[in-house]
Amino acid sequence: MIKDKVYDIVVIGAGPGGIASAIEAKLAGIEKVLVLEKADNHSDMIRKFYKPGKRVDKDWQGKKFEFIGNVTFEECSKEEYLEQMDKKIEEAGVKDKFLYNHHVYAVAKNSDGLFEVGADKEHGVILAKKAIIAIGRMGKPNKPSYRFPPKIRPRLNFNLDKVQPGEKVLVVGGGDTAGEYAYGLVDMDIGCDVTLNYRRPEIVRMNPTNKSILLKYADEGKLKLKLGVDIESVEPYEEEGVTPPKVKVNYKDGTSDIFDRVVYALGGTSPVDFLKNSGIEVNEWGEPKYNPDTMETNVPGLYTIGDVVTSQGSIALAFNHAYLAVQDIAKKLKG
Ligand SMILES: Cc1cc2nc3c(=O)[nH]c(=O)nc-3n(C[C@H](O)[C@H](O)[C@H](O)COP(=O)(O)OP(=O)(O)OC[C@H]3O[C@@H](n4cnc5c(N)ncnc54)[C@H](O)[C@@H]3O)c2cc1C
Repeated sequence: MIKDKVYDIVVIGAGPGGIASAIEAKLAGIEKVLVLEKADNHSDMIRKFYKPGKRVDKDWQGKKFEFIGNVTFEECSKEEYLEQMDKKIEEAGVKDKFLYNHHVYAVAKNSDGLFEVGADKEHGVILAKKAIIAIGRMGKPNKPSYRFPPKIRPRLNFNLDKVQPGEKVLVVGGGDTAGEYAYGLVDMDIGCDVTLNYRRPEIVRMNPTNKSILLKYADEGKLKLKLGVDIESVEPYEEEGVTPPKVKVNYKDGTSDIFDRVVYALGGTSPVDFLKNSGIEVNEWGEPKYNPDTMETNVPGLYTIGDVVTSQGSIALAFNHAYLAVQDIAKKLKG
């Protein structure tokens, strides 16, 4: 239905911020809008984290908020709030703008200045003139199903932040992030001994560029590939004077190996990684830098709203942010 179409706005996340963005865009006369949501319904964070019957406050945590845009809500229970949102989406005529079960990992600007937001067989490449990131703060990277023994947890990571020069590192995963972490570590030239482990015998989920760099580096002996075998468990490898202990990785084929660090790239993203991967500058608390009058980030045309910009967010604040972002976008699309 939307194959290779260029949208005016693509919104990532269908929480309060994403819903308000879609409605504000409609009211501003912007029709070509798509909201991509990883869950199978809107307001997923609220469905999952609010207790049944919880009162939804407007002035959340005592902070007074005035609505500045067109989207508002009446204080009520969780269930009534969700009904209010269903009704607002329906009445604004934006129900068909929401695409569920669609996880986005980053928003990248291509050489035509358009934002490219993932691509899959069904929907083709999703392109947009402007993008609004409304992913909240609750995102988490996926974890493997086996246990992480507490002793070695500091050595089990989900990004490269903690990798030290000279370490023996295992990167686990077969997607683009795993590939980029593995060859990225080689490119950093900090003396790391890098292995990539993927449970399938072939790399099938990586884009062709990442795949070819990875395979070339493997051919040249710059990194090792351990393909076609999954990890059974990880356990501490005790050595005198080494704390925390190194990680003994036990594979399902009965082999094992010792690593200083294991970096998991199994899909799912933390909000900070999402922002960084999209080229947005973040401060020491992982909050994006943005213009508070327009919500635009350092990447022109890319906006961040709601909880992802602040740890003191609320529904009303997310609604207000959406209004500011869409007003700015409407002005720029016209101009
Ligand atoms: C327990 C609890 C109680 C609260 N009570 C109140 C209250 O009474 N009143 C109030 O005003 N505020 C309350 N808040 C805060 C309020 O819920 C948030 O400020 C608000 O939901 C923020 O909206 P958002 O759209 O920025 O983010 P979220 O509500 O977190 O929505 C983000 C959406 O993006 C989706 N998403 C995330 N990552 C991706 C991705 N990579 N690809 C695609 N989709 C993605 C998520 O599934 C989610 O649907 C409460 C918060 C909590 C945790």
